[in-house]
Amino acid sequence: MSPAVAYTALAASLAAAGLAWSVFHPASQTFAPVIRRISTPDSIALTFDDGPTPPFTTHILEILRDRHLSATFFIIGRHASEHPGLIRRIADEGHTLGNHSWDHHHFGINHGRDYWRTQLSRTNDAILNITGITPQLFRPPMGFKTWHLAAAARENHLRIVGWSARAFDTNPLTPDRLVARLAPRLRPGAIIALHDGLEPARQHKSQQTTVDALPPLLDLLAARRLRCVNLHSLETAAAPQAVA
Ligand SMILES: [Zn+2]
Repeated sequence: MSPAVAYTALAASLAAAGLAWSVFHPASQTFAPVIRRISTPDSIALTFDDGPTPPFTTHILEILRDRHLSATFFIIGRHASEHPGLIRRIADEGHTLGNHSWDHHHFGINHGRDYWRTQLSRTNDAILNITGITPQLFRPPMGFKTWHLAAAARENHLRIVGWSARAFDTNPLTPDRLVARLAPRLRPGAIIALHDGLEPARQHKSQQTTVDALPPLLDLLAARRLRCVNLHSLETAAAPQAVA
């Protein structure tokens, strides 16, 4: 291989690696600002993705209500249309509703701007019709981001929200292990990603481990004097906050 060909191949592989990082890495801000922390003092934001899915969402709402705590739920649009009562309850109990796409398609990143525009607007409309509230926050499925997805989010006036720590609670896990995994990352300003729901590709699974882990997780937050807040303050902030 000539040096010129070798350099070209190296440049191509580096470009591919850079693009892959931009699309797949949770910390990537290549295509849009991604909010990964909050600035509220002594607080932490618990977020729940992929719901609502009974009975898991229902149990999580009960645990939060008993402790007078609020969180943020990133909603799959087609689940909203199937469980409007749970969407209404999430809003009525003071939690923040975010958009998590209509289908949560694993290969959605292969699609263009029209696809994402529809995924986001359809989900916003479903939540608006049920609650009268238009979501202002969007968490991309799996945290994967593309130029088209980011552009569609901007068109729908949605800020992209990531996380500072995740529990990987869609994988087999015990409640103890879930809490132990998150414990070192429960610091002021953290945004924690958990799952209350089952995305369409995982309808036969369970999120019971997350339900069972929530009380000890909340005990730990209380012991560390960390206040649980929802992400409503991000909706009312003047400008997007991109925090690496
Ligand atoms: Zn998800």
